[in-house]
Amino acid sequence: MSQYILSIDQGTTSSRALLFDERGQHVATAQQEFKQYFPEDGWVEHDANEIWLTTLNVCREVLQDYDTSLVKAIGITNQRETTVIWDRKTGEPIHPAIVWQDRRTAAFCEELKVQGFEETINKKTGLLIDPYFSASKIRWILNEVEGARERAEAGELAFGTVDSYLLWRLTEGKSHFTDATNASRTSLFNIETQQWDEELLKIFDIPSALLPEVKDSSDDFGECAAHWFEAVLPICSMIGDQQSALVGQACFAPGMVKSTYGTGCFMVLNTGAQLIRSQSRLLSTVAYRVNGQVTYALEGSIFVAGAAIQWLRDGLQLIGHARESEQLAEQVGYENPVYLVPAFTGLGAPYWDPNARGALFGLTRDTGIAEIVTAGLQAVCYQTRDLLSAMERDGAEVSALYVDGGMVVNDWVTQFLADVLNVNVERPAIVETTALGAAYLAGLRVGMFASLEEIRKLWALDNRFVPALDRHTADQLYSGWLEAVERVKSQGSSATG
Ligand code: ADP
Repeated sequence: MSQYILSIDQGTTSSRALLFDERGQHVATAQQEFKQYFPEDGWVEHDANEIWLTTLNVCREVLQDYDTSLVKAIGITNQRETTVIWDRKTGEPIHPAIVWQDRRTAAFCEELKVQGFEETINKKTGLLIDPYFSASKIRWILNEVEGARERAEAGELAFGTVDSYLLWRLTEGKSHFTDATNASRTSLFNIETQQWDEELLKIFDIPSALLPEVKDSSDDFGECAAHWFEAVLPICSMIGDQQSALVGQACFAPGMVKSTYGTGCFMVLNTGAQLIRSQSRLLSTVAYRVNGQVTYALEGSIFVAGAAIQWLRDGLQLIGHARESEQLAEQVGYENPVYLVPAFTGLGAPYWDPNARGALFGLTRDTGIAEIVTAGLQAVCYQTRDLLSAMERDGAEVSALYVDGGMVVNDWVTQFLADVLNVNVERPAIVETTALGAAYLAGLRVGMFASLEEIRKLWALDNRFVPALDRHTADQLYSGWLEAVERVKSQGSSATG
């Protein structure tokens, strides 16, 4: 009889519950979307209660056909940085959750830069100063909600990212914990000492009484209250979504790197026990913490990956479905390349140019829909090379890229990736890597998996894409991309790439 791990994958637009068995096979899924709130320009909020209720619903749905006595543990992976502050007595949030995408604290972050805090913050957290991370969002809630600061100082309130809030609700207030990966995205956590940092708390003006205790990513986080699922299930892992995908891809050795291609693209490189400080404006972060041992990562993100294909489909209406892009690209050769720089909301790593805007280059009378759509697919691959080059400049030696996400069903994209990067591109059999990572770490805690090495053996290949294009053509195509990027950069932005 199989045993199972229940993995909660709490994302930005939906909550999902997935069951995995002891071989890491995915056996059931339930998913529920929830509402996005945009109260002002640049603001993005979620209702934390709705996050909790949709999570509860999908867990119940996925468990209904299974004997809960066979479910050995729960693992949680989550949208990172999103900030919740709640009343310790009632569990009620005192303000809507401020989502990672929210830019309301941009002015304050600029002020911190002007005051010269960037170096301190970067050194301690591995992050840049940006509204993206939780600290400035916490400060905003404490300043804007009446009485919040006094109540926080008196110990009446709790802060958490979404992992912590779900844990609090599952355990009915018995557990106030987070894990080292989620902590590392708050901008309050010193990733070297693995402690909340007094100096950072002072810079952001945040009382330490708010904070959860930080545990390993695979640990004892408490037990869920019996009435939720008519069973007492232990919660044995918590890990941020991108780090969880790294674990789900079993990238446990230094130099192993995964890239997830959804709306955007997140690339995470395992750097082992070594904390590498990027010279190319990548983020240093915690990959996972197991048995008290920290594994570090370098991370780079691209804002627009699959979103460019959505734009070609919905905005320009050049295609009816994303999958049509594959057939079109197969018709296009490499002479007279067209470049689409999809800097719709600026450029992310390693350029960090929020004011750059998109452009199409290289149009001729022969340019048609196929060429423009191909340029959209290629842009995602070129941007991956930008990130890979940055990682290599920081000392990484990469021989293979492990890919996942909705876009990598497209064989043309995975082949062109291999061609442009000149590394093997490995697509796993199980593409639910985010949920799988949390399941692995929970299973590790309860002995379902013996070790990370054992988990590595469960990773199975769907397809390997080997570089086939001649190097000269590949490098020429890429240098054309670099020229195109130069031309969209905003005035005054420096070339950090
Ligand atoms: P997210 O989790 O960010 O919502 P998914 O992992 O579900 O994203 O991936 C969806 C994205 O992948 C969409 O942006 C879509 O345009 C893109 N996509 C889906 N199928 C294909 C395909 N066959 N070729 C290219 N892009 C695709």
